[in-house]
Amino acid sequence: MATLQVHKKYKLRWYEKFYFMSISAGMWVTLKHFIKSAILRRMVTVSYPEKKKPLSSRFRGLHRLKRNELGQERCTACFCCQWACPADAIQIVAAEVAPERQYLHPEDKYAKSFQVDLLRCIYCGLCEEACPKGAIYLDGGIPMPADSRDGLILNKEQMLEAQGGKILGERL
Ligand code: SF4
Ligand code: SF4
Repeated sequence: MATLQVHKKYKLRWYEKFYFMSISAGMWVTLKHFIKSAILRRMVTVSYPEKKKPLSSRFRGLHRLKRNELGQERCTACFCCQWACPADAIQIVAAEVAPERQYLHPEDKYAKSFQVDLLRCIYCGLCEEACPKGAIYLDGGIPMPADSRDGLILNKEQMLEAQGGKILGERL
């Protein structure tokens, strides 16, 4: 049976009670960063959002709905992403494609409404993985703050890309 070891409370020596060493160590870190940025001009921060650093190819940001090479919406409202989402963040309303609008869609069903709740999303990428049509990717950049809950619910119009293209394929 494992024995429980209780450590005695550490008693500070008289000179440790002035916290001189701790304060000096903290000031040394500040001084190093000051020399680096103000004198050597090696900035350690960027003025975001005016300046942006390149994102990794594996970065997961805002959701985007894709179009195919013909400019049609790839999403066919199959609900795979909604079922795969562990955070219950996706809400889709499916509808039949009207014959006169069939040229805009590859199949007979489409997503009339497609919402992603960014307050629930954990950016796991499972919706991207689950989609059999290559219709949803998390390559839409860094989520920006909003001043209301409604401002953090993405709708189809915000996510749908204007231009079509090939399926992006697997991420690196
Ligand atoms: S990234 Fe994950 S949590 Fe966010 S919508 Fe997709 S499956 Fe859901
Ligand atoms: S985005 Fe993909 S997985 Fe989600 S409903 Fe559309 S086609 Fe299905």
